[in-house]
Amino acid sequence: MIRRALLALGLLVALAAPAAAQERPKWAIVIHGGAGVIERANMDAKTEAAYRAGLATALAEGQRVLERGGSAMDAVEATIKVLEDDPLFNAGRGAVFTAEGRNELDAAIMDGATLRAGSVAGVTRTRHPISLARTVMEKSPHVMLIGDGADQFAKQAGLEQVDPAYFFTERRWEQLEKALNAARLPIPTRPINAPSAAKSLTWGPQPDDHRFGTVGVVALDANGDIAAGTSTGGMTAKRWNRVGDAPIIGAGTYADNRSCAVSATGSGEYFIRLTVARTICALVQYKGMSLQAAADEVVQKQLVDIRGDGGIIALTADGQLVWSFNTPGMYRAQAAAGRPTVISIYKDEP
Ligand code: ASP
Repeated sequence: MIRRALLALGLLVALAAPAAAQERPKWAIVIHGGAGVIERANMDAKTEAAYRAGLATALAEGQRVLERGGSAMDAVEATIKVLEDDPLFNAGRGAVFTAEGRNELDAAIMDGATLRAGSVAGVTRTRHPISLARTVMEKSPHVMLIGDGADQFAKQAGLEQVDPAYFFTERRWEQLEKALNAARLPIPTRPINAPSAAKSLTWGPQPDDHRFGTVGVVALDANGDIAAGTSTGGMTAKRWNRVGDAPIIGAGTYADNRSCAVSATGSGEYFIRLTVARTICALVQYKGMSLQAAADEVVQKQLVDIRGDGGIIALTADGQLVWSFNTPGMYRAQAAAGRPTVISIYKDEP
Protein backbone atom coordinates (compact mmCIF):
# COMPACT_ATOMS: atom_id res chain seq x y z
CA MET A 1 0.00 0.00 0.00
CA ILE A 2 2.65 2.44 1.14
CA ARG A 3 4.76 1.36 -1.79
CA ARG A 4 1.92 2.06 -4.17
CA ALA A 5 1.31 5.49 -2.67
CA LEU A 6 5.00 6.33 -2.99
CA LEU A 7 5.00 5.21 -6.60
CA ALA A 8 1.97 7.36 -7.36
CA LEU A 9 3.61 10.32 -5.64
CA GLY A 10 6.78 9.74 -7.66
CA LEU A 11 4.76 9.73 -10.85
CA LEU A 12 3.02 12.97 -9.91
CA VAL A 13 6.31 14.67 -9.15
CA ALA A 14 7.74 13.41 -12.45
CA LEU A 15 4.73 14.74 -14.34
CA ALA A 16 4.86 18.11 -12.61
CA ALA A 17 8.59 18.63 -13.12
CA PRO A 18 9.48 20.54 -16.26
CA ALA A 19 11.23 18.39 -18.87
CA ALA A 20 14.85 18.40 -17.81
CA ALA A 21 16.57 20.72 -20.25
CA GLN A 22 19.54 18.93 -21.78
CA GLU A 23 22.79 20.55 -20.83
CA ARG A 24 24.66 22.23 -23.66
CA PRO A 25 27.19 19.73 -24.95
CA LYS A 26 30.78 20.91 -25.27
CA TRP A 27 30.57 20.26 -29.01
CA ALA A 28 28.03 18.82 -31.42
CA ILE A 29 27.66 17.97 -35.08
CA VAL A 30 24.78 16.91 -37.33
CA ILE A 31 25.26 15.81 -40.95
CA HIS A 32 23.12 14.77 -43.89
CA GLY A 33 23.79 13.02 -47.19
CA GLY A 34 20.55 13.84 -48.97
CA ALA A 35 16.85 13.10 -48.65
CA GLY A 36 14.45 11.35 -50.98
CA VAL A 37 12.68 8.13 -51.80
CA ILE A 38 15.05 6.02 -49.75
CA GLU A 39 13.20 2.92 -48.59
CA ARG A 40 14.18 -0.48 -47.25
CA ALA A 41 12.34 -2.14 -50.14
CA ASN A 42 14.71 -0.69 -52.71
CA MET A 43 17.96 -0.80 -50.76
CA ASP A 44 20.19 -3.87 -50.63
CA ALA A 45 22.24 -4.70 -47.52
CA LYS A 46 25.59 -3.89 -49.11
CA THR A 47 24.52 -0.46 -50.31
CA GLU A 48 22.89 0.38 -47.00
CA ALA A 49 26.04 -0.62 -45.13
CA ALA A 50 28.13 1.52 -47.49
CA TYR A 51 25.96 4.58 -46.83
CA ARG A 52 26.08 4.08 -43.06
CA ALA A 53 29.85 3.65 -43.22
CA GLY A 54 30.18 6.79 -45.35
CA LEU A 55 28.17 8.80 -42.84
CA ALA A 56 30.16 7.36 -39.92
CA THR A 57 33.50 8.24 -41.52
CA ALA A 58 32.44 11.81 -42.20
CA LEU A 59 30.94 12.24 -38.73
CA ALA A 60 34.14 10.93 -37.13
CA GLU A 61 36.15 13.53 -39.03
CA GLY A 62 33.99 16.38 -37.73
CA GLN A 63 34.06 14.94 -34.23
CA ARG A 64 37.86 14.73 -34.35
CA VAL A 65 38.11 18.42 -35.25
CA LEU A 66 35.68 19.50 -32.54
CA GLU A 67 37.19 17.30 -29.81
CA ARG A 68 40.56 18.89 -30.45
CA GLY A 69 38.98 22.30 -29.89
CA GLY A 70 38.66 23.16 -33.61
CA SER A 71 36.08 25.72 -34.68
CA ALA A 72 32.61 24.89 -35.98
CA MET A 73 33.70 26.32 -39.35
CA ASP A 74 36.70 23.96 -39.43
CA ALA A 75 34.47 21.00 -38.54
CA VAL A 76 31.92 21.87 -41.22
CA GLU A 77 34.58 22.21 -43.91
CA ALA A 78 36.55 19.09 -42.93
CA THR A 79 33.43 16.92 -42.73
CA ILE A 80 32.03 18.11 -46.04
CA LYS A 81 35.38 17.47 -47.73
CA VAL A 82 35.11 13.82 -46.69
CA LEU A 83 31.58 13.64 -48.10
CA GLU A 84 32.64 15.41 -51.31
CA ASP A 85 35.33 12.75 -51.82
CA ASP A 86 32.89 9.90 -51.24
CA PRO A 87 31.35 8.85 -54.58
CA LEU A 88 28.19 7.68 -52.83
CA PHE A 89 27.01 11.21 -52.21
CA ASN A 90 25.86 13.83 -54.68
CA ALA A 91 28.64 16.34 -54.01
CA GLY A 92 32.18 16.59 -55.36
CA ARG A 93 33.13 13.17 -56.73
CA GLY A 94 29.87 11.34 -57.38
CA ALA A 95 27.91 14.49 -58.22
CA VAL A 96 24.96 14.17 -60.60
CA PHE A 97 25.20 15.29 -64.22
CA THR A 98 23.58 18.16 -66.05
CA ALA A 99 21.63 17.40 -69.24
CA GLU A 100 24.76 18.41 -71.15
CA GLY A 101 26.76 15.72 -69.34
CA ARG A 102 28.71 18.02 -67.02
CA ASN A 103 29.14 18.14 -63.25
CA GLU A 104 28.30 21.65 -62.02
CA LEU A 105 28.88 21.97 -58.31
CA ASP A 106 27.29 24.34 -55.78
CA ALA A 107 28.35 24.94 -52.16
CA ALA A 108 27.98 27.40 -49.30
CA ILE A 109 29.29 27.92 -45.80
CA MET A 110 28.20 30.36 -43.10
CA ASP A 111 29.76 31.36 -39.79
CA GLY A 112 27.13 31.89 -37.09
CA ALA A 113 29.48 33.95 -34.93
CA THR A 114 30.06 36.71 -37.47
CA LEU A 115 27.30 36.17 -40.06
CA ARG A 116 30.01 36.01 -42.70
CA ALA A 117 29.27 33.64 -45.56
CA GLY A 118 30.72 32.39 -48.82
CA SER A 119 29.20 30.45 -51.67
CA VAL A 120 29.85 29.17 -55.17
CA ALA A 121 27.67 27.85 -57.97
CA GLY A 122 28.37 25.96 -61.17
CA VAL A 123 32.03 25.18 -60.50
CA THR A 124 33.51 22.38 -62.61
CA ARG A 125 37.20 22.07 -61.78
CA THR A 126 37.63 22.65 -58.05
CA ARG A 127 37.95 19.41 -56.10
CA HIS A 128 36.43 20.77 -52.92
CA PRO A 129 33.67 23.33 -53.57
CA ILE A 130 33.13 23.75 -49.82
CA SER A 131 36.72 24.95 -49.38
CA LEU A 132 36.19 27.34 -52.27
CA ALA A 133 33.05 28.71 -50.59
CA ARG A 134 35.07 29.30 -47.44
CA THR A 135 37.85 30.93 -49.42
CA VAL A 136 35.33 33.27 -51.07
CA MET A 137 34.24 34.25 -47.57
CA GLU A 138 37.73 34.71 -46.19
CA LYS A 139 39.79 35.95 -49.11
CA SER A 140 37.40 37.91 -51.33
CA PRO A 141 35.19 40.90 -50.61
CA HIS A 142 32.22 38.90 -51.97
CA VAL A 143 29.70 36.33 -50.79
CA MET A 144 28.97 34.45 -54.02
CA LEU A 145 30.99 33.56 -57.12
CA ILE A 146 29.80 31.46 -60.05
CA GLY A 147 31.04 29.39 -62.97
CA ASP A 148 34.40 29.90 -64.59
CA GLY A 149 35.22 32.93 -62.50
CA ALA A 150 34.77 30.93 -59.32
CA ASP A 151 37.11 28.20 -60.60
CA GLN A 152 39.64 30.83 -61.64
CA PHE A 153 39.50 32.38 -58.17
CA ALA A 154 40.02 28.90 -56.68
CA LYS A 155 43.10 28.36 -58.81
CA GLN A 156 44.48 31.75 -57.87
CA ALA A 157 43.89 30.98 -54.20
CA GLY A 158 45.82 27.72 -54.57
CA LEU A 159 42.89 25.32 -54.17
CA GLU A 160 43.25 21.91 -55.79
CA GLN A 161 42.04 21.85 -59.40
CA VAL A 162 41.04 18.62 -61.13
CA ASP A 163 40.08 17.44 -64.60
CA PRO A 164 36.27 17.63 -64.72
CA ALA A 165 36.28 13.85 -65.37
CA TYR A 166 37.45 13.42 -61.76
CA PHE A 167 33.84 13.90 -60.68
CA PHE A 168 32.53 11.22 -63.06
CA THR A 169 30.88 8.06 -61.74
CA GLU A 170 29.17 5.43 -63.84
CA ARG A 171 26.16 5.26 -61.58
CA ARG A 172 25.39 8.96 -61.98
CA TRP A 173 25.90 8.68 -65.72
CA GLU A 174 23.34 5.87 -65.83
CA GLN A 175 20.93 8.02 -63.80
CA LEU A 176 21.39 10.81 -66.32
CA GLU A 177 20.65 8.51 -69.26
CA LYS A 178 17.52 7.30 -67.53
CA ALA A 179 16.33 10.82 -66.77
CA LEU A 180 17.03 12.08 -70.28
CA ASN A 181 15.29 9.10 -71.86
CA ALA A 182 12.25 9.74 -69.70
CA ALA A 183 12.25 13.42 -70.72
CA ARG A 184 12.90 12.49 -74.37
CA LEU A 185 16.05 14.58 -74.39
CA PRO A 186 19.21 13.61 -76.28
CA ILE A 187 21.99 11.75 -74.44
CA PRO A 188 25.23 13.76 -74.58
CA THR A 189 28.55 12.10 -75.39
CA ARG A 190 30.51 10.78 -72.41
CA PRO A 191 32.74 13.48 -70.93
CA ILE A 192 36.29 13.59 -72.32
CA ASN A 193 38.60 11.55 -70.09
CA ALA A 194 35.74 9.75 -68.36
CA PRO A 195 36.78 6.18 -67.61
CA SER A 196 35.36 3.53 -69.91
CA ALA A 197 32.12 2.02 -68.65
CA ALA A 198 33.91 -1.20 -67.73
CA LYS A 199 36.55 0.51 -65.61
CA SER A 200 34.51 3.14 -63.85
CA LEU A 201 33.04 2.97 -60.37
CA THR A 202 29.72 1.16 -60.28
CA TRP A 203 27.47 0.20 -57.45
CA GLY A 204 24.76 -2.35 -57.05
CA PRO A 205 21.07 -1.48 -57.17
CA GLN A 206 20.43 2.02 -55.93
CA PRO A 207 17.62 3.54 -53.94
CA ASP A 208 17.92 6.33 -56.35
CA ASP A 209 14.65 7.18 -57.76
CA HIS A 210 15.37 10.29 -55.79
CA ARG A 211 17.00 12.66 -58.18
CA PHE A 212 18.76 14.60 -55.53
CA GLY A 213 21.36 14.06 -52.86
CA THR A 214 23.47 16.84 -51.44
CA VAL A 215 25.56 16.80 -48.29
CA GLY A 216 25.40 19.20 -45.38
CA VAL A 217 26.85 19.75 -41.94
CA VAL A 218 26.01 21.94 -38.96
CA ALA A 219 28.35 22.15 -35.98
CA LEU A 220 28.69 23.68 -32.50
CA ASP A 221 32.18 24.19 -31.10
CA ALA A 222 33.66 24.50 -27.62
CA ASN A 223 33.54 28.27 -27.95
CA GLY A 224 29.76 28.15 -28.31
CA ASP A 225 29.86 29.16 -31.98
CA ILE A 226 27.82 27.44 -34.69
CA ALA A 227 28.27 27.10 -38.46
CA ALA A 228 26.54 25.49 -41.43
CA GLY A 229 27.69 24.23 -44.80
CA THR A 230 26.14 22.49 -47.81
CA SER A 231 27.63 21.04 -51.00
CA THR A 232 25.88 19.48 -53.99
CA GLY A 233 25.88 18.54 -57.63
CA GLY A 234 22.28 19.75 -57.73
CA MET A 235 19.65 17.78 -59.60
CA THR A 236 20.14 15.17 -62.32
CA ALA A 237 19.66 16.49 -65.85
CA LYS A 238 19.48 20.11 -64.72
CA ARG A 239 19.76 22.55 -67.60
CA TRP A 240 20.60 26.12 -68.43
CA ASN A 241 23.11 26.51 -65.60
CA ARG A 242 20.36 25.92 -63.08
CA VAL A 243 21.33 26.74 -59.49
CA GLY A 244 19.56 25.21 -56.50
CA ASP A 245 19.10 26.27 -52.90
CA ALA A 246 22.35 24.91 -51.48
CA PRO A 247 24.51 27.94 -52.32
CA ILE A 248 21.76 30.48 -51.66
CA ILE A 249 22.37 31.92 -48.21
CA GLY A 250 19.10 31.70 -46.29
CA ALA A 251 17.59 29.03 -48.56
CA GLY A 252 19.70 25.89 -48.25
CA THR A 253 22.31 27.16 -45.83
CA TYR A 254 22.21 29.55 -42.88
CA ALA A 255 23.89 30.10 -39.50
CA ASP A 256 23.50 32.68 -36.76
CA ASN A 257 24.63 32.10 -33.17
CA ARG A 258 21.49 33.89 -31.96
CA SER A 259 19.12 31.42 -33.59
CA CYS A 260 20.38 28.33 -35.39
CA ALA A 261 22.45 26.69 -38.10
CA VAL A 262 20.66 24.86 -40.91
CA SER A 263 21.61 22.82 -43.98
CA ALA A 264 18.92 21.62 -46.36
CA THR A 265 18.44 18.99 -49.03
CA GLY A 266 15.56 18.51 -51.43
CA SER A 267 13.89 20.09 -54.42
CA GLY A 268 15.82 23.32 -54.30
CA GLU A 269 13.32 25.51 -56.14
CA TYR A 270 10.87 25.15 -53.25
CA PHE A 271 13.52 25.73 -50.61
CA ILE A 272 14.51 28.95 -52.35
CA ARG A 273 10.92 30.23 -52.43
CA LEU A 274 10.45 29.65 -48.72
CA THR A 275 13.98 30.70 -47.73
CA VAL A 276 13.77 27.54 -45.66
CA ALA A 277 16.96 27.83 -43.62
CA ARG A 278 16.47 31.46 -42.66
CA THR A 279 12.76 30.99 -41.97
CA ILE A 280 13.50 28.20 -39.48
CA CYS A 281 16.06 30.39 -37.71
CA ALA A 282 13.66 33.37 -37.73
CA LEU A 283 10.96 31.28 -36.04
CA VAL A 284 13.48 30.38 -33.34
CA GLN A 285 14.77 33.93 -33.02
CA TYR A 286 11.58 35.98 -33.16
CA LYS A 287 8.87 33.54 -32.13
CA GLY A 288 10.88 31.76 -29.47
CA MET A 289 9.99 28.36 -30.94
CA SER A 290 12.00 25.27 -30.11
CA LEU A 291 14.25 24.27 -32.98
CA GLN A 292 12.29 21.06 -33.62
CA ALA A 293 8.97 22.92 -33.74
CA ALA A 294 10.41 25.55 -36.09
CA ALA A 295 11.93 22.93 -38.40
CA ASP A 296 8.70 20.91 -38.50
CA GLU A 297 6.62 24.02 -39.17
CA VAL A 298 8.63 24.75 -42.31
CA VAL A 299 9.45 21.22 -43.52
CA GLN A 300 6.25 19.36 -42.60
CA LYS A 301 3.77 22.18 -43.25
CA GLN A 302 4.96 25.10 -45.37
CA LEU A 303 7.02 22.98 -47.76
CA VAL A 304 4.36 20.29 -48.03
CA ASP A 305 1.77 22.98 -48.81
CA ILE A 306 3.69 24.02 -51.91
CA ARG A 307 4.67 20.39 -52.70
CA GLY A 308 8.36 20.78 -51.95
CA ASP A 309 10.10 17.62 -50.81
CA GLY A 310 13.25 17.18 -48.78
CA GLY A 311 14.56 17.86 -45.33
CA ILE A 312 16.96 19.75 -43.11
CA ILE A 313 19.42 19.26 -40.29
CA ALA A 314 19.88 21.99 -37.71
CA LEU A 315 21.32 22.88 -34.34
CA THR A 316 21.34 25.78 -31.88
CA ALA A 317 24.16 27.22 -29.83
CA ASP A 318 22.46 25.84 -26.69
CA GLY A 319 22.69 22.30 -28.03
CA GLN A 320 19.35 21.44 -29.61
CA LEU A 321 20.12 19.01 -32.44
CA VAL A 322 17.33 18.22 -34.87
CA TRP A 323 16.36 16.95 -38.27
CA SER A 324 13.08 17.06 -40.12
CA PHE A 325 12.23 15.62 -43.53
CA ASN A 326 9.04 14.95 -45.48
CA THR A 327 10.49 12.21 -47.68
CA PRO A 328 10.63 8.47 -46.91
CA GLY A 329 14.27 8.77 -45.93
CA MET A 330 17.24 11.03 -45.36
CA TYR A 331 20.85 9.96 -44.87
CA ARG A 332 21.71 11.57 -41.55
CA ALA A 333 23.84 11.32 -38.42
CA GLN A 334 24.65 13.24 -35.26
CA ALA A 335 27.19 13.21 -32.48
CA ALA A 336 27.70 15.41 -29.42
CA ALA A 337 29.97 15.31 -26.38
CA GLY A 338 28.39 13.01 -23.80
CA ARG A 339 25.50 11.92 -26.02
CA PRO A 340 25.02 8.74 -28.04
CA THR A 341 25.89 8.86 -31.73
CA VAL A 342 22.99 8.34 -34.12
CA ILE A 343 23.30 7.19 -37.75
CA SER A 344 19.99 6.80 -39.59
CA ILE A 345 18.52 6.47 -43.06
CA TYR A 346 14.81 5.61 -42.94
CA LYS A 347 11.87 7.48 -41.49
CA ASP A 348 11.17 4.89 -38.80
CA GLU A 349 14.63 5.31 -37.29
CA PRO A 350 15.35 7.82 -34.52
N1 ASP B 1 18.81 20.90 -52.88
C1 ASP B 1 19.65 20.50 -53.97
C2 ASP B 1 19.36 21.34 -55.16
O1 ASP B 1 18.21 21.67 -55.39
C3 ASP B 1 19.48 19.09 -54.36
C4 ASP B 1 19.48 18.12 -53.23
O2 ASP B 1 19.38 18.45 -52.09
O3 ASP B 1 19.59 16.94 -53.51
O4 ASP B 1 20.25 21.61 -55.91
